[in-house]
Amino acid sequence: MRALVVEDDPDLNRQLVAALTDAGFAVDKAFDGEEGYFLGETEPYDIIILDLGLPKMDGLSLLEQWRRADKKMPVIILTARDRWSDKVAGMDAGADDYLAKPFHMEELLARVRAQVRRASGHAKSEIECGPLRLDTTTARVAYDGQTIKLTSHEYRLLAYLMHHNGRVVSRTELVEHLYEQDFDRDSNTIEVFIGRLRRKIPGDLIKTVRGLGYRLAQEDDAP
Ligand code: CA
Repeated sequence: MRALVVEDDPDLNRQLVAALTDAGFAVDKAFDGEEGYFLGETEPYDIIILDLGLPKMDGLSLLEQWRRADKKMPVIILTARDRWSDKVAGMDAGADDYLAKPFHMEELLARVRAQVRRASGHAKSEIECGPLRLDTTTARVAYDGQTIKLTSHEYRLLAYLMHHNGRVVSRTELVEHLYEQDFDRDSNTIEVFIGRLRRKIPGDLIKTVRGLGYRLAQEDDAP
């Protein structure tokens, strides 16, 4: 999963990036409205954290422009505590949720997880695929109740596939959603991580769809 943080306060920006990285996201950051707008316009994010008070272009205009351009990614806005009118304006401009500053990072992360789940069609915090279970709140993966230890990149990859189970995910899509903007992207590394996941997870659950990408096994797959 890939996140964008648009926040001009350098300390808060750093804290947000650190918390989201710890939670398993590939995170890009912007410190002003123009930079933020450009990234949101050109990169496919699974969640965006958007401060409203920004230099160069305010958060509200930025959000309106994204929505006008039909960008549908979930956006959580950060507002000042006493400005109820900001929250209303933000939701009306197309925000999916808001948090008033100061906030607890745990609350932000819970809201982020909820938005990411909802955007991929999952209402529950646990996503199941046959015997495989992903607990999005603890970032834990288990097979038949046994915890599977994954590195952060393996987790990102599996979490993306599980959020989008039931459809084929291309290698390009995986590359775009698993790495930060500055990362030296090479789609061959996806194959390497798929190989590692297959060795760690029993039961041939990750299927290759030749020429298209990968998908998780469904119940009606032939054994
Ligand atoms: Ca600000």
